[in-house]
Amino acid sequence: MKLFGTNGVRGVVNRDLTADLALKLAMSLGTVTKGTVAVGRDTRTSGNMLSYAAIAGLLATGCKVINVGIAPTPAVQYFVRDNADAGIVITASHNPREYNGLKLIAGDGTEFGIEGELAVEDIYYGEALKLADWRETGDLSHTDIIPAYIEGVMQNVSALDIAKRRFIVAVDTGSGAGSIVTPFLLSKLNCKVTTINAQIDGTFPSRNPEPTEDVLTDLGKIVVSNGADLGVAHDGDADRAVFIDENGNFVKEDVLLAIVVKHVLSKTPGPVVTPVSSSQRIADVAEAAGCQVIWTPVGSIHVARVMMQVNAVIGGEGNGGIIFPEHQYCRDGAMTVAKVLEIMNERGRKLSELAAEIPKRYMDKTKVTCRDRDAAMQHIQSSAHGNVDTTDGVKIWYDDGWLLIRPSGTEPIIRIFVEAETETRAHDLLELGMNMTKGC
Ligand code: MG
Repeated sequence: MKLFGTNGVRGVVNRDLTADLALKLAMSLGTVTKGTVAVGRDTRTSGNMLSYAAIAGLLATGCKVINVGIAPTPAVQYFVRDNADAGIVITASHNPREYNGLKLIAGDGTEFGIEGELAVEDIYYGEALKLADWRETGDLSHTDIIPAYIEGVMQNVSALDIAKRRFIVAVDTGSGAGSIVTPFLLSKLNCKVTTINAQIDGTFPSRNPEPTEDVLTDLGKIVVSNGADLGVAHDGDADRAVFIDENGNFVKEDVLLAIVVKHVLSKTPGPVVTPVSSSQRIADVAEAAGCQVIWTPVGSIHVARVMMQVNAVIGGEGNGGIIFPEHQYCRDGAMTVAKVLEIMNERGRKLSELAAEIPKRYMDKTKVTCRDRDAAMQHIQSSAHGNVDTTDGVKIWYDDGWLLIRPSGTEPIIRIFVEAETETRAHDLLELGMNMTKGC
């Protein structure tokens, strides 16, 4: 059985994900990683249960543990990079309320890669836990990591110039970990801040942790009624940020990524890194700046690792997760907010105007069930012609769009993604994709 999925270990609390599992997983991590381990969590109700189980497991293997309490995942990563040998974040990110998870952080602050996960999994299933002698069980301390993290974000934007502009910002942190960072960061940037759902609450009373357009209608209304320059919302662990423009309209995540990429490249030309599932818009703005896009498998760890290899100037996913290498090699919601304010200030444009500069593209997606994912993918790959990219699934590039067919990691399902210059063409490409998967 595989312990780790695309985003660490995730599951429904006390059904898939128990204190027992957290304890043993932490003992496994402690067995392979000696030294200091930071443990943080998002605001979920099971956060205490799972983080103290993980802390106990680490202490049992002789690790020194720093409990950083509730904090956004990027804040924990920022802390681990400079102060610890590894980290565990108790979070299920954007998943529904009843979920939680454990995300392992490497000593350089990036998420654990597949090699690291396999090493921990081997210990976990091999029952090869190495418990410490009674004299050497670990010490536990507590640290507030938030002030240094906010300071770190401020150092990577033109904070003084942003402060002069006195932006009006509405924030919906969804009762998640971003509640203790983003409103305070914005205040430090001299913004006039209005918050909703900024009280920490693991039952997520107002909305699910995933900041989709349909759950942000209240935020949109507040932006308009307050005459705000923009609205911003986070997922449960605030590594993602999504935006509402001054008219109350949701800015599509891939449009926002393109706005950021365009701005970064105008100042610092260099390679851009994004997964194969990302919008052509990223390539459009990179091409216009004479820069190269490197496409990776889906998953932020792949984006981060490739960014390090090629010395990329910017990278990110089409879900609001953006990586700013001058800050750290992970998705960072608070950093994204600060950067968007910097862009609006430097460009002297409203958010809707910046969005309107990005080329129009139409995306669509669907899923089909299949009997055998691997056999189906092999069949699709052998029947694909033209400009084919097999970085992750099968992606076929056309002159006016693309089609991507990927197997699900967990279900007997194949997903089809398309993007084109017109809605009609996107529809046609989706049909084509469905035809290719027929009989699978
Ligand atoms: Mg997240």
